[in-house]
Amino acid sequence: MMNWKANPSYDGHEDVVFVGDEALGFAGIVAIHSTVLGPSGGGVRVWTYPRVEDALTDALRLSRGMTYKNAMAELPMGGGKTVLYKMGPDRAACFEKFGEQVQAIGGRYVAAEDVGATVADMRAIARKTSYVSGIPKEGGQAGGDPSPWTALGVFLSIKALLGGSVQGRTVAVQGTGAVGFGLCKLLADEGAKLLVADVNAANLERAKALGAEVVAVDHIHAAKADLFAPCALGAGLNATTIPELGAPIICGAANNQLASEDDGARLQARGIIYAPDYVVNAGGIISVSAEYLGESEAAVDARVRAIAPRLMKVLETAKAEGLTPHQAADNMVRERLAAAQRA
Ligand code: NAD
Repeated sequence: MMNWKANPSYDGHEDVVFVGDEALGFAGIVAIHSTVLGPSGGGVRVWTYPRVEDALTDALRLSRGMTYKNAMAELPMGGGKTVLYKMGPDRAACFEKFGEQVQAIGGRYVAAEDVGATVADMRAIARKTSYVSGIPKEGGQAGGDPSPWTALGVFLSIKALLGGSVQGRTVAVQGTGAVGFGLCKLLADEGAKLLVADVNAANLERAKALGAEVVAVDHIHAAKADLFAPCALGAGLNATTIPELGAPIICGAANNQLASEDDGARLQARGIIYAPDYVVNAGGIISVSAEYLGESEAAVDARVRAIAPRLMKVLETAKAEGLTPHQAADNMVRERLAAAQRA
């Protein structure tokens, strides 16, 4: 058995559970970072890695990120994540077996969709356990695809950062997938000018239909705009891209936008305002959490609308304390976790 506490991304994680089934041909890792605020909530990522150790690193890093995101969004959930690094040919059977293994974790982890996983996969898990979310519901109940909620939280944050209106302002959107395209629609509806880039031609076409201007994939971060919204993959803000950035404000949905801690300081040195990713992209987990707790869509809407005021508070705190926005957000989370541990 791999010594997960020796991994450089280990950060006091409560538990790591190795899941899978040799006969079905799947294998994965459930990382439980923290259950201080409630059951650890976080998606199931279906992805391949060069080595199992890399899958472990990803699971440890992502589950810690979920603790911070959930705590910041004031959800009664801790942070966890699953990485399924090997998938068998009978996908439904694999997910059912995984559901049994989630059940055996006894409620310390609640599964949902992440990159590579679908609603059908969640339904398969749900045949074996109730510790799962991300399944559409009816009658005003929260549930289903979380990405429209993520897009709404990012949109309202952008609006707040631009002084209350996006009318006539230029926003550069990197990645027009589920969240990025949803964001483009909200921005276009309220009169923003869109610059977009995506490696996927079909996803780009639907943004073009909104009147967006296409920019080369390797130039979108440098495009002259009022705001840059990274909505593709992580680590897009790094030592190479930060000197080239063409917008004075960054606010997007992508997870782990800063390639390293130093990049927060690099942005600050350039006078660029950075909206910490996990503060603004919590809409999806807010929906997932409400679904798990049997709450209404109205409750989700109210919590998603609390994201932008929270972001402005993080930015004010950072300014007052001479910190980067990311450091200020991390401190707020650590205080919240410490208070919960004391209670
Ligand atoms: P998605 O896969 O639907 O969209 C991602 C898009 O980015 C795709 O269209 C892809 O082609 C494009 N892309 C990939 N590499 C690119 C590159 N180099 N340049 C430009 N475009 C590129 O995923 P999504 O659900 O929209 O999520 C987008 C980001 O937001 C991810 O980082 C995800 O982790 C994060 N996020 C998503 C949610 C959610 O609710 N879906 C919640 C929180 C965070």
